[in-house]
Amino acid sequence: MTSPQTALVLHGGAGTILRSKMDPQKEIKYRAGLQAALQVGRALLEKGSSALDAAEATVKALEDNPLYNAGKGAVYAGDGKHYLDASIMRGDNREAGSVAGITGVKNPISLARSVMENSRYVMMVGIGAEAFAKQQGLEMVPPAYFHDELRYKQWLEIKDTTLTQLDHAHKGEKNWSTVGAVALDQNGNIASATSTGGMTNKQFGRVGDTPIIGSGCYANNLTCGVCCTGHGEPFMRSVVAYDLSCLMEYKGMSLAEAARHLVQEKLLAIEGEGGLIALDAEGNYVLEFNCEGMYRAAWVSGQEEYVGIYKDE
Ligand code: ASP
Repeated sequence: MTSPQTALVLHGGAGTILRSKMDPQKEIKYRAGLQAALQVGRALLEKGSSALDAAEATVKALEDNPLYNAGKGAVYAGDGKHYLDASIMRGDNREAGSVAGITGVKNPISLARSVMENSRYVMMVGIGAEAFAKQQGLEMVPPAYFHDELRYKQWLEIKDTTLTQLDHAHKGEKNWSTVGAVALDQNGNIASATSTGGMTNKQFGRVGDTPIIGSGCYANNLTCGVCCTGHGEPFMRSVVAYDLSCLMEYKGMSLAEAARHLVQEKLLAIEGEGGLIALDAEGNYVLEFNCEGMYRAAWVSGQEEYVGIYKDE
């Protein structure tokens, strides 16, 4: 069956993103980064590529952009290194792949896809996952590749404390900038992909929701594809991504109703700040968040592209 629509949604993180505090030059760069990533995935979908290819390529574009906390420009962990997490899932057969706590792989999302397609496993971590990346011929990079001056300064400010800081956060503010993309292709297939550096100064070994299938990422053609961003621990405790799908499947909720309930009620009840992007097989999408802003973009075939940062746009 050919889907009447193709669609793509993406995010570059959520948090205390206030117009009053935004540097206008930085805002231009953020919007351009979102737009450029949207173009990458859109172009693939328009020429008939799969949702899986489009979601992976969109996330790769965001990983390669140092503005976002994934791939190049990822945050520093407590030991001054980068440990990256990513996951990917296809909605037709619910195959999934994920990696956690990896260093040295240029595009963690491609490693997650390799785990899904070329291993018998769903999840691989640390040095074992890196060895697998080499076997798979994925591009490896030295630690310096991930360096970004801003992220380094953020870490220096708190490195001798027990604080775990959310990306870009100023004192009293919270910001997450994991990246994610969900695509719908012309065959009606949905795929979700997400990637992150986690949280600044996170303890070595800490893993958030991003690589956990069902928490930070999920896809099922019968319900929706979804990627989350925010404070990983409440998202894991709420199994947000799978719960969104379940609310649609078992309770008959629409995508919009289910997303609103989860993000504005269930998560907030346990101080789970952040948001999610999701779309269903009809091309309906949501960009739902419970904090001041979320870097986000969307495109549905036949409609104008949308790029937003703040709550009121
Ligand atoms: N959810 C991610 C984590 O907790 C952070 C983010 O969304 O930026 O690792």
